[in-house]
Amino acid sequence: MRELSGKVAVVTGAASGIGRALALRFAAEGMTLMLADVDHGGLAETAGLAGDARVLTQITDVSDAASVRHLANRCFGELGAVHVLCNNAGVFQGGHMWTRSEEDFAWLLGVNLWGVLHGIHEFVPRMIEQDTEGHIVNTVSVAGLFARPGAGAYAVAKHAALAASQALAQDLAAIGAKLRVTALCPGAVRTRIADSARTRPPGLASTPTPDEREIHASVGRAAARGIEPSEVAGMVVEAIREERFLLLTDPTYADRLRLRTESLLT
Ligand code: NAD
Repeated sequence: MRELSGKVAVVTGAASGIGRALALRFAAEGMTLMLADVDHGGLAETAGLAGDARVLTQITDVSDAASVRHLANRCFGELGAVHVLCNNAGVFQGGHMWTRSEEDFAWLLGVNLWGVLHGIHEFVPRMIEQDTEGHIVNTVSVAGLFARPGAGAYAVAKHAALAASQALAQDLAAIGAKLRVTALCPGAVRTRIADSARTRPPGLASTPTPDEREIHASVGRAAARGIEPSEVAGMVVEAIREERFLLLTDPTYADRLRLRTESLLT
């Protein structure tokens, strides 16, 4: 998709960080936006920063199928079509593998994996049916490529999210659809990801273990040294314009200037 102006973009996790940067970049490209998040205040702030763009917002919990279905119904009902879908919402939780409870895993998998799967399930059939020339961007992470100490549960979810992106790319290529897929796998990006506990559902154990606290502090320091979300958003727009199936990644955490691109189909 070379021309973005006048097209519709949906961004989940749009209240903050990479999602906000994607939204603002799409707005600058002249796109119409549907922004989704669990954080009402943050969503309103992003919408307020989007200048003259037409912006709709929807409180959405991506881990909940019905919530994402409602989002999709609103998009297709009110905007007619969706051209760019960014399954971007995500949460981080550190801690040694043996300390993570079933509830911890359910939360991480719910947002980071089911968020992507619900997006695929609720949007892609309608995009195919409308023969849309479009792009699905799944925000994964380098944690989708390898596990790091203290972030195993996150890596489990992100590995599966990357597999879902590759499988989606293979299936869309096989049927000759006009949709392309990018799996976005950054290393460290300057956002509040280390503070994901703020969007943790009530009822989940909220007292962090000592290992969890230390890991969150170190992820926070790494994020602070990372690239700007706006740089990531710029790379995503380039990827959309390339009309390919792409893996955008930064496997060494070292390449601050440019994420390496590879084909998602190999
Ligand atoms: P962030 O915390 O700034 O943004 C994440 C957003 O997701 C927040 O607005 C939050 O409210 C929202 N969210 C959380 N749970 C949700 C739910 N159930 N439903 C809908 N929205 C929900 O962090 P970020 O770094 O911008 O994260 C965006 C994506 O980038 C995530 O998928 C994350 O895993 C990924 N990522 C981040 C980094 C990094 O270093 N920041 C690196 C690699 C990948």
